Amino acid sequence: MSYTVTNPYNGEVVKQYPDAKEEEISQALDAAEGFYQLNKKIKPEVRAIQLKAFADVMEQNKEELARKAAINMGKLLREGRGEVDLCVKILRYYAQQGPNLLKPKPYIYEMHKEAFLHYDAIGTVLSVEPWNFPYSQVIRVLAPNYLIGNPVILKHAGIVAGCAELLEQLGDKAKLGTGAFKNLFITHKQVEEILADKRVQGVALTGSEKAGSIIAQQAGANLIKSTMELGGSDAFIVLDDADLDKTVSDAVGARLRNCGQVCTSAKRYIVEEKIAEEFTKKISKIFEELTIGDPLDEDTQLAPLSSASATTDLDNQVKRAVENGAKVVVAGGKVENAAGNFFKPVILTDIVPENPAYYEEFFGPVAQIHVVKDDEAAIKLANDSNFGLAGAVYSSNPRHALEVARQVETGQIFINQPSSAHPELPFGGIKNSGYGREMSDIGLYEFTNQKIIVL
Ligand code: NDP
Repeated sequence: MSYTVTNPYNGEVVKQYPDAKEEEISQALDAAEGFYQLNKKIKPEVRAIQLKAFADVMEQNKEELARKAAINMGKLLREGRGEVDLCVKILRYYAQQGPNLLKPKPYIYEMHKEAFLHYDAIGTVLSVEPWNFPYSQVIRVLAPNYLIGNPVILKHAGIVAGCAELLEQLGDKAKLGTGAFKNLFITHKQVEEILADKRVQGVALTGSEKAGSIIAQQAGANLIKSTMELGGSDAFIVLDDADLDKTVSDAVGARLRNCGQVCTSAKRYIVEEKIAEEFTKKISKIFEELTIGDPLDEDTQLAPLSSASATTDLDNQVKRAVENGAKVVVAGGKVENAAGNFFKPVILTDIVPENPAYYEEFFGPVAQIHVVKDDEAAIKLANDSNFGLAGAVYSSNPRHALEVARQVETGQIFINQPSSAHPELPFGGIKNSGYGREMSDIGLYEFTNQKIIVL
């Protein structure tokens, strides 16, 4: 069964869920359409009350949500609580700011004539989400769409079916309304069929480039709107005037948060040669000393990876990188004969463009260090990537960092802080990292009909 929860710490199958029946899908689409039609006549302020209620319910159930994420995909408890906090912030942001952002926008034409741009709902949006942030990825789509009046159908990743089920139950508890939010355990084929249904007017995906390419084509075939949040191989640029201790401390978290399974992880440290040796020495020591354990244990520093297949894939990627000339600075890797998906942190260097690792994304605790001569070389290397999601620049001179940051081809970049997600800021990428934005005002408008009414 594709919807199977397996505990990443011990390999035990926790629960299996049968695929959705056609009747269940048909009922979900009918109910979603009912919500859309009904809510056309209801103001966003009314739905904002329900979003606040959902935020409260999530906050009250933080511990259960965090435990469920630990057992489904191995997230550390404290990181799970942090993810719930982010969900609460997103829900409250749209509840508080959303109604204002949806107010009609005045336009003037022919000198003095008036028109107004209205942000109308468009219909059902399918949300196809990954396992790495099993709650916040969903809330990023659900909160703005609910406020607009677009019902959301969720197709979650098979390994976090338990998280999907719990989130839906909490949505019901918050009384989002019939048809507003429905989780379905659907196959890839059923996703394609749903996207062909006339009532479905949008699809938001977070996941791999492969899934992005397939679903974007299906959306295109049906001429419906899509947003794609795909992978990344973010540059973490360390200029030679950076405060090294702070930079190293931030660099560790930027790479190893969520056991390195974040689209915006700092996957490539690009370090100027004057400080490269010291940076490498300091960060290697920290990587070597981290211990892996049970995500349910508060003292665990590094959790197991989300699945056995992810562990094997990452191990093979590292082996291939080394066969192609990468030098191993920290030799971690897959822990053989363990019940769980344990993978010790790895640092690689001397990765040349001919090495497949140079352009690949490593979705786990594997860092690359690239040593460069100067700013120009750092920018060139940062941009020599198929991805363009996020990044960071470190320098004790913020103007210097800003000058470099402006030249990096990416959707978001942070100065003297690791990249992170905030409801007030747009989140998304360019190139193979996808298109469209989530969160902020821009994320709110993605699935609206921006309808001009000329008076
Ligand atoms: P996938 O892209 O395979 O999965 C993401 C979601 O898309 C899941 O719900 C998955 O469902 C669904 N999906 C995948 N293929 C299809 C399809 N053809 N039709 C319909 N739905 C589909 O990611 P993985 O979880 O396998 O992770 C692999 C890679 O994806 C990572 O190594 C990383 O590069 C990238 N990734 C990026 C993330 C990000 O935040 N940008 C998050 C997670 C992964 P199902 O589980 O049923 O296959």
